[in-house]
Amino acid sequence: MMQAVALPALSDNYVWLLHDENSGHTAVVDPGDAQVALDGAAARGWTIDQVLITHWHPDHTAGIPAVVAATGAKVWGPEAERDKFAGLDHGLADGDKVQVGSAEAEVWHVPGHTLGHIAFILDGHAFVGDTLFAGGCGRLFEGTPDQMHASLQRLGTLPDEMIVYPAHEYTLGNYRFLAAKAPGDAAIERRLAEVTALRDAGRPTVPTTIAEERASNLFLRADNAAEFARLRAAKDSFR
Ligand SMILES: [Zn+2]
Repeated sequence: MMQAVALPALSDNYVWLLHDENSGHTAVVDPGDAQVALDGAAARGWTIDQVLITHWHPDHTAGIPAVVAATGAKVWGPEAERDKFAGLDHGLADGDKVQVGSAEAEVWHVPGHTLGHIAFILDGHAFVGDTLFAGGCGRLFEGTPDQMHASLQRLGTLPDEMIVYPAHEYTLGNYRFLAAKAPGDAAIERRLAEVTALRDAGRPTVPTTIAEERASNLFLRADNAAEFARLRAAKDSFR
């Protein structure tokens, strides 16, 4: 049984702890802030022994050296981005498998936000970094609309009940954009109300599920790369 915990970090990141109750093993995903990760684990009596990285951006990787220094954890992440951040032990590419406690994670290459971006899919949990957000998707810093559209379509093939763990709390802004883009869309309006209530209560809006994103996330619903590109450009300039 895997337990995932969201640790708010930096301005709007989530560092995810993934704890396997069977083996006692704890992984941290995208530790942009080492102290947040170490304190979050210590508070639960857990010890981090594995670091999983989705992409090279510093708000996902800056904490690696201090987590490793404190715990001796080994680091798995995208081989294609090895030169862009410190501390990678095990480079990964599409289709690779990683043991995470008693579960086996499959690595998916999901380029678009960065060219080497990967996701970890395991045991009903999908750690998607900055590729798929609740109600949104990552900005295209390195990749093309075609690449990101294909990455999102692929994530959209995961089962309905798959729990999706994005790395940022962008949900309210995303649904404000979607509601402006698709006025009267019932799924989007329902989600906007839900996430507004969660944020008013100071609670995270993540994780989400593939079923929810398929129903209410226009970026995942885009029929083709051109439609996706128009939507992404509109979001980039939305205030
Ligand atoms: Zn990023």
